[in-house]
Amino acid sequence: MKNIFEHTRSSWVKYSEYDFVQDEDSGQVYIMPASDAKPQFFNPLENAEQMVIDALNVGLTCMSEESTDEDKETGVFSFVSEYGLLGLMTALPTTPQFMDYDAVYLTKNQYIKAETMSTEDYLNIFFPFEMPDIIKNKNGTMWSIEGDRDMMALAMTMDSRPMAVNMEFQREYAERYDWLVKQFKDWAFIFFTTTMYYDNLDNDNKDLYRQAMACFDGIAPTYHIELLDKPTLVWDFHSLLLGIQMMFSFILVNGQNPLRICKHCGTIFKASRPSAVFCSPQCKNRYNVYKSRSKHKG
Ligand SMILES: [Zn+2]
Repeated sequence: MKNIFEHTRSSWVKYSEYDFVQDEDSGQVYIMPASDAKPQFFNPLENAEQMVIDALNVGLTCMSEESTDEDKETGVFSFVSEYGLLGLMTALPTTPQFMDYDAVYLTKNQYIKAETMSTEDYLNIFFPFEMPDIIKNKNGTMWSIEGDRDMMALAMTMDSRPMAVNMEFQREYAERYDWLVKQFKDWAFIFFTTTMYYDNLDNDNKDLYRQAMACFDGIAPTYHIELLDKPTLVWDFHSLLLGIQMMFSFILVNGQNPLRICKHCGTIFKASRPSAVFCSPQCKNRYNVYKSRSKHKG
């Protein structure tokens, strides 16, 4: 399996600029596109491995007791700036088509305890500042995007995707910062779980690790094949979150180039061979210099 994402494609939207925005009433902090930012499409599968590694390193920063609040904010913010928001709004419900219904049914998740809530209340969570203009008529639910050329162009291109996914690509869509932190931490935790499961001979905790893995799921994305210059597998992710989760799963089960934590700098990297322990020759050198120095001291 040399590159499982070769001849695969998917699309997601990221904006040219994002902001941290605080809701003064609730005190809640969100990340959302800056008011004059431009949307742009990209294929998240093009650098799938790098994206997973970036996500895991952000998670590592968020988990670490040595990280300051600023380190965590910088980590999450730079990930969003590079790849867009995670699409939590369509990752949590049982169907991304929830706009067709009056109520949303939620899969078991760590953000919202309720099993169901009204579609309107649910939308409020992700549109805390400005709600898109939603019109319900005999043709179904629509939302008004008159006047904004960028938004109209986006909505037309994304016509085949569920309406809620389109809404996530709008400028008013926001994700809670603390939820993002939680999600990144979760991925890093899963990574640690697998690493420890195989690296440690600690049999007592193996059940715990197995249980942790069992919680790592989500609605599987669907796919179809498009006849481009070559037959191409097109993944229909309804959220970047599920996309990352799927790619992460593939990397975890692909034993040839496992992900490792660098023995010197502590970042997660893709090992060029299974025995590699440093992320770069520089880290290897620095580690050896450091070791010989401490030897002289001792
Ligand atoms: Zn390193």
